[in-house]
Amino acid sequence: VWEEPILHVDMDSFFVEVERLADPTLRGIPVAVGGTGPRGVIASASYEARAFGVRSAQPTAMALQACPGLRVVPSDHGRYAEVSIRVFELLRSFTPMVEGLSVDEAFLDVSGLRRHHRSPVEVGEDIRAGIRSELGLPSSVGVAATKLMAKLASESAKPDGLRHVPRSGQVEFLHSLPASVLPGVGPATQAALAKLGVETVSDLAQVPPATMERSLGRAMGRQLAGLAAGIDNRKVEPDSEAKSLSVEETFDLDLEGVEVIGSALLALAHRLSVRLRRSGLSGRTVTLKVRFGDFRTVTRSRTIEGPVDGWRDLSRIAGELLAELDAIEPVRLLGLAATTLEPSSRPRQLDIDSSQGWDRVEDAVFEVRSRYGERAIRPARLLDEDG
Ligand SMILES: [Mg+2]
Repeated sequence: VWEEPILHVDMDSFFVEVERLADPTLRGIPVAVGGTGPRGVIASASYEARAFGVRSAQPTAMALQACPGLRVVPSDHGRYAEVSIRVFELLRSFTPMVEGLSVDEAFLDVSGLRRHHRSPVEVGEDIRAGIRSELGLPSSVGVAATKLMAKLASESAKPDGLRHVPRSGQVEFLHSLPASVLPGVGPATQAALAKLGVETVSDLAQVPPATMERSLGRAMGRQLAGLAAGIDNRKVEPDSEAKSLSVEETFDLDLEGVEVIGSALLALAHRLSVRLRRSGLSGRTVTLKVRFGDFRTVTRSRTIEGPVDGWRDLSRIAGELLAELDAIEPVRLLGLAATTLEPSSRPRQLDIDSSQGWDRVEDAVFEVRSRYGERAIRPARLLDEDG
């Protein structure tokens, strides 16, 4: 099991770097993207500009005072959104467990990638290399055990770097930072903390809980005390489009007969299993969709106790759901979805009538298929049709 499976991926000066792709004369000089009118505000500043004190949210006039050579480029949010979509597509090609925070920032839970990568750090480096080679953009990645630590790690890795904070070193890393890095610490809280003599997270950790609650209020005081100790139980919540994996097929000729429909379902279960295993995910809910010859469409779902990712389980559940439908033919379309996804945990828990032997078979099948391709091994029942 990976100890630090949470990644925070953050693009470096995103708007500026997208502008630099279109106009290479912007490279290596102080550049900001933002409003150029009298009331304009900076949206993003290059690192060369930051060295002069240029910051996002700063009025453009003030930024030009701080950095007279600053090139200010008007923002083109349509283009940033297009590039953002490509960044997120790339992230989701690693795992569906991607939680977007803004156009250029996301948390990933890469627990499911243990079969494909040696470590979360390797995943992070592959992501950075992919963003660099496919989009031509720099990014930074933090690798840690929790969201908070991953975010702080990527911040300290910037620009164009990766930082791994091992679980055993996270308190030490956290305590070296100013208290203002903690989520929820705005200017008002910062002022209250300053009165307590708190500058760093380390100072914060030494304030007695009662004192903290008295000066910051109970909720905030408790939250900060927990964060200062590195406690953060927030999970990566994948964006809605990634919450399920599904496969479906519309047949050229309507399917008739329990055997034929059963075989088609088995093939779908198989495809779904491949997709789940490739992503390292299991689903707790299996949904069957059936469209009949007359276009009537019904869905049936079942939530199971232990999450599944194998075709044997998926096709059994799909078959049971199919049996619940009264009239089952002719069938025009079949779909199968796994939802309530979570990273697959291996080794799995043992059931009484353990399917562990089948797990091994399925694992072996999976390995062969990922090496030799989809069609290398399939359930014997499918071979009759086209194998
Ligand atoms: Mg960013």
